[in-house]
Amino acid sequence: MVSLARKTKEVIDNSKLETLKKLLDDANCISIVTHPNPDGDAVGSSLGMYQILKQLGKEVYTLVPNSFPDFLAWMEDADKCLNFEKNPQEVTDALTKSNLILCLDFNSISRLNGLGDVVKATPAPKVLIDHHLYPEDDFILQISELWVSSTCELVYHIAKELGLQPLLTVGAAEALYAGIMTDTGSFSYSSSNPATFHVVADLLTLDIDKDKIHQIVYNTFSEERMRLMGYCLNEKMVVFREHKTAYIALTLKDLNRFKHRSGDTEGLVNLPLSIKDVNFSVLFTEQTDGNVKLSLRSKGDFSVNEFSRKYFYGGGHKNAAGGRIQMKMPEVIKYFEICVRENADKIIKSI
Ligand code: 5GP
Ligand code: MN
Repeated sequence: MVSLARKTKEVIDNSKLETLKKLLDDANCISIVTHPNPDGDAVGSSLGMYQILKQLGKEVYTLVPNSFPDFLAWMEDADKCLNFEKNPQEVTDALTKSNLILCLDFNSISRLNGLGDVVKATPAPKVLIDHHLYPEDDFILQISELWVSSTCELVYHIAKELGLQPLLTVGAAEALYAGIMTDTGSFSYSSSNPATFHVVADLLTLDIDKDKIHQIVYNTFSEERMRLMGYCLNEKMVVFREHKTAYIALTLKDLNRFKHRSGDTEGLVNLPLSIKDVNFSVLFTEQTDGNVKLSLRSKGDFSVNEFSRKYFYGGGHKNAAGGRIQMKMPEVIKYFEICVRENADKIIKSI
C-alpha cells in the first residue's frame, strides 16, 4: 500500500507570508535581483514577480548581473531588465531608489559578485525567495523552500497565499511556466510533488501556450550550437568508467570556433548522464576572466551541491550545482580527478 501522506513540509510559514505582505505594503519602489548567467527560473521568476508587483501599482525594477540567452528574451518585459554588466549606474540608481529588494533564485548575496557589493551597501531590507540549500544570513526575511521545483513555482504559491493570484497576467503566467519547465528539465526531475502540477494546471487555465514555450526555449538553437554539441560528444567527452564519471572541458578556443553565444552551453552537462553507467557529469567552461566555470549534475544520492561547495566554491541542489575556480584548464582537470578519486565510493554507489 502506498501511503498518500507526504513526508515533506509543503507550506510556507504563515508568519513569513505576513511579514512579506507588510514589507510589500510599505514599499512603493521595489527592486528584484537574480543570479549571474540567469537561467529560465531566474528570468521567469523575476519577470513573473515584476508583473504582479506592477499590477499592484508599485514602481518595480528587474535587475540582472549580466545578460541572459536569447531563448528567454521572448518573455513579456524581458527588455525592461536592467543589466549590471552593461549599465552599472542605472542598476545602482534603481537600488538606491528602492525601499525593498527581493532576491530571487539564489541564496547568498556574495554570488552576485560586483552587483552584490552594491546590493549590500543599499539600506533597503532584502528578502530571499528561493529553493536552494543553505541560504546565507544576508536577508531580513528568508522564504527558502526546498520542496518546490523552482523559484517560479514558489512565486506562484506566494501570490496565491497573499491573494494576488487574480493579478496574474498571461505574460506573468508564461514566464512562471517557463521557469518551472526549465528547472525540472521539462518535468523529468525535481517535479514529483503534486503541488508542482497543481500550479501548472492553474497556469494553463490562464490560456498560456505551453507548446509554444517549449518550442521557443528548446528548439531555437543556432546551427553552430548543434555542431558544438556534436563536437562535445565526439571529441571532448571524457569518461572515467571505473568512477562512473564523465566530463566535458571547453576552452575559449573551442567556444570561439563555434561562435559561442550566451546560453549555447546550456544543457550540455546533461548529455553524459544519458550513459547507463555514468552517475556524475561535469562541464568545465573557460571564462574570459581567467576562471573556469563548472556545471555539475548527478543521478541518485551523490550530492553535487556538497561536492561543489567543498572543492569548487559553488553550490546549488543535490543533483544540479555550479561552481568556479581560478586555475588554468589542465590544472582544473588534474585537481578534479583527485576530487573524484576522493569521492569514488559515493559516486559509484549513487544509484
Ligand atoms: P548551472 O549548472 O545550470 O549553472 O547551475 C545549476 C544549479 O546550481 C542552479 O540551481 C544554480 O542556481 C546553482 N549554481 C550555479 N552556480 C552556483 C554557484 O556558484 N554557487 C551556488 N551556491 N549555486 C550555484
Ligand atoms: Mn531555480
